[in-house]
Amino acid sequence: MHLVFFTDFDGTITEQDTCMAMAEAFARGNWQELELQWQKGELTTEECARETLKLFDAGEEELKKLLTDHVTIDSHFIPFVQFCRQKGHEIYVLSDGYDYNIETVFDKYGIKDIPYFANRLIIKGRKFDIECTHSSRECPRCGTCKAELMEKLKPEGALAVYIGDGYSDLCAAKKADVIFAKGVLLSHLCREGIPAMAFDDFSDILKWLNRR
Ligand SMILES: [Mg+2]
Ligand SMILES: [Zn+2]
Repeated sequence: MHLVFFTDFDGTITEQDTCMAMAEAFARGNWQELELQWQKGELTTEECARETLKLFDAGEEELKKLLTDHVTIDSHFIPFVQFCRQKGHEIYVLSDGYDYNIETVFDKYGIKDIPYFANRLIIKGRKFDIECTHSSRECPRCGTCKAELMEKLKPEGALAVYIGDGYSDLCAAKKADVIFAKGVLLSHLCREGIPAMAFDDFSDILKWLNRR
């Protein structure tokens, strides 16, 4: 059977959430309140990100250094990618975070040729902004609407496997055939009675693949 993996980036491939790490390092002001409003659905991703980015006191150099010095990936992710390539399974990264962060972290680990969809981080000197090029007309909340992308990208007859950990994964995960979840995604799915497999890292997904 043809498998297609759709995976979140922040906190799923990476061990830290790069958007949180940026805010913690660079925001001068109450970004936590914005984050809470976003979690409650009172702000869209675009609104929350734009207001948070306005609080930043940093430029590209500082961001690049933060990402390369402090962000690490799940040590089983690269073996997972290699396994999928051998078997012909597809992988897409779907992120409601930033393209710049994904590119920088993938570069650091020499990870190439994994298609990803994320929000654009615009950097002009010491000013940051967000551009949402993968938003959906039907979904006001997401910057990058993972549910809509998954429906577009999934080939007919393939088994869609979703891997994630956060609020922005909830809608997409529900549309997948198989869900691997941790963090708030797992607790939300449990509360709604939606079956999902709990996982700690990509070694659990490799084990599942080897059992098939
Ligand atoms: Mg995440
Ligand atoms: Zn959406």
